[in-house]
Amino acid sequence: MRHSKDPVSALRLVNGSAGDPAVYLDFPGQDNAVQFDAGELHRLDPVEVRDIGMVLLTHLHMDHFVGFDRILRSTIDREKTVYVCGPVGTIGAVEKKLGAYVHHRFPFMKVRYEVLELGTPEESGSRASFDCQEGFVRRDLARHSPGIGSVILENPECRVRFALASHTVPCVSYAVDIKRGYRFDPTKARGGVLRPGPWVKRVLEEVRKPKDSRARELPVDGEGGRFALKTLLDGYFTFEKARRIGFVTDTRVDRQTYPRLVELVEGAWRLYGDSYYAVGQEVKAEKYGHMTTEQVAGLAADAGVDQLMLIHFATRYRGRYDVLLEEARSYFPNTHAELPERSRIHERHSLA
Ligand SMILES: [Zn+2]
Ligand SMILES: [Zn+2]
Repeated sequence: MRHSKDPVSALRLVNGSAGDPAVYLDFPGQDNAVQFDAGELHRLDPVEVRDIGMVLLTHLHMDHFVGFDRILRSTIDREKTVYVCGPVGTIGAVEKKLGAYVHHRFPFMKVRYEVLELGTPEESGSRASFDCQEGFVRRDLARHSPGIGSVILENPECRVRFALASHTVPCVSYAVDIKRGYRFDPTKARGGVLRPGPWVKRVLEEVRKPKDSRARELPVDGEGGRFALKTLLDGYFTFEKARRIGFVTDTRVDRQTYPRLVELVEGAWRLYGDSYYAVGQEVKAEKYGHMTTEQVAGLAADAGVDQLMLIHFATRYRGRYDVLLEEARSYFPNTHAELPERSRIHERHSLA
C-alpha cells in the first residue's frame, strides 16, 4: 500500500533482498517501465512485464539475466522498441536468446529490441537492433559512444547514466534520474470514473507543453466525452519531484571504481546496493567482486543518498539475513531490506 507521501512512480524489489537482483520501476498508466537487472521475474505479472521499455543489465551472470526470457515472452506482441543496455557482450547474448526460439510471426507483432553496449570509452557504443518483423535478424547500428557519466537513454520520464563497476566479468552500475512532472496516480484514480487508457499519455503530452499552448479539454477514448485538462489532472494525476535511483551491484570498491560509483549515485533518493558479504569477508568480496555491508553503507554515506536498500545477500547467510541488515544500519541508519519471512524458510527446510 502506498503511503500518501510516497512517490507515484512505483519501485519494486522483485525478489526481495535475498533473491536474484531485479528492480522494477513503473510509471503507472504508461508502457515505459524500467527494469534494473533481469534475475528471476516470475513474481511480476505478465501485464507488468509487457510495460517494460528499458532493460538495464549490470552484467550477464545468470542471476541477473535469466528473467530476460520473460521480458521477451511478454513484450513480443507489443508495438514498441524495448531498449536494452548492458556491458560488452550484451548484443551477442540477446542475439543468442532470440535465436534459441522458433518464432511465430504475425503482422501485429511489431516489437523491436535495441541494444547498446557499455564499457570504457574505447569499448562502449556498439549498438544493434532486432526487429520482429525482420525475424529478429541482427542489424548493426551506427556506434553511439556515450562518455562515462553522460546520459545513455532518455525519455519524457527519466534519464539513464552508467559507470563502470569492477566484477569478475564486464559489469556496469546505473543511475536513473526520474524527472519532475505529473504522473498518473492509481490511488487517486480509484475514486474516479475513468479507467486508464491512451488518454493518460495524451494528458501527459499536453502538460509538458508551455501553459498557454495547452488544450483546455481533451477527448477521453472509450468514454465518449471530453474532459477539462484541469479536471483530469486534479482527479487522476500527482505532481512528483525529481528523484535519483542508484543501482550498484556485483562490484568491488577498489580505488579506481569507488569514486566513479560515488559520483554516479550522488544525492540519490534511493540506492539499491549489493551487500553480498558481512563485515570480515573483505578478502572474499575483493576476490569475487562484491561488497560487504560496511562497504555498501559507506558508499551510501559518501554519496549522500537518502535511503539504502540492500540487495543480493549471499545464500550462506540464509536464516540470518537480519544480521546483514543490522550491520549495514550501524554504518548507515536509513538502511532497509526486504527479508524473506522466517516461518516460510523453516517450512521449506522441514519439508526438504
Ligand atoms: Zn555476478
Ligand atoms: Zn550477482
